[in-house]
Amino acid sequence: MKLLFLGPPGAGKGTQAVRIAGRLNIPHIATGNMLREAVAAGTELGLVAKEVMARGDLVSDDLVIAMLEERIEQPDAERGFILDGFPRTIAQGEALAERMGDSALDGAVYIGVEDDEIVRRISGRRTCPNQHVYHVDDNPPEVFGVCDIDNETLVQREDDAEDVVRNRLRVYREQTEPLVEFYTSRGLRIHPVNGLGDLDEVEAAIVATLDI
Ligand code: ADP
Ligand code: ADP
Repeated sequence: MKLLFLGPPGAGKGTQAVRIAGRLNIPHIATGNMLREAVAAGTELGLVAKEVMARGDLVSDDLVIAMLEERIEQPDAERGFILDGFPRTIAQGEALAERMGDSALDGAVYIGVEDDEIVRRISGRRTCPNQHVYHVDDNPPEVFGVCDIDNETLVQREDDAEDVVRNRLRVYREQTEPLVEFYTSRGLRIHPVNGLGDLDEVEAAIVATLDI
């Protein structure tokens, strides 16, 4: 299965993409995670991306498209994948269609959550350096401030500060939300999922709508 996860920042795309990718045994491909790894490793891409990401703006289409294309050519992506955080602009959607053909995607899951809840979720988001994600109230680790999986210290992402989140929401509405219309007009099935339940409820809704 080749799936896209769409929805505003903080809606729970990453959390659910990890779960659904695990069920289907396909890779979870998250461009935000890949870019943060590049920043941490200090690669050329990371150096360019760092400040753009800290402001909550989008990294340029050319760079992200090249990074994504290289990733989906890896052998583990042959059977399928979940794309999380890509495409984020119409240009990225067009590049993906050109690369894979219009019929190559099986569907998109759109996780809807309103702005106040997004800000609440993002303010409580804590992540470890290996990109495992928690929430201080709704999905806390067993030991305060420590990742359950690798014992690393949890931190708050720099771009999860409230003023940056407001910019990310603006960028989302202007540049990413139009992809819903883009895919609808191209006949891709979009599965709307109410993101407001708890983590298990949202997962169950995705499993049901995808019939997996
Ligand atoms: P979120 O948790 O808001 O969904 P991500 O982890 O997906 O955030 O992305 C974090 C940041 O990485 C974005 O604000 C943006 O700067 C950059 N980024 C991630 N994916 C893309 C993309 N497809 N195109 C451009 N920039 C991206
Ligand atoms: P995205 O990838 O869309 O930016 P995340 O999966 O990182 O979103 O989730 C954002 C924050 O909200 C994280 O702190 C996560 O633990 C929390 N979260 C995710 N799903 C839910 C949910 N259904 N209810 C409450 N909190 C959630």
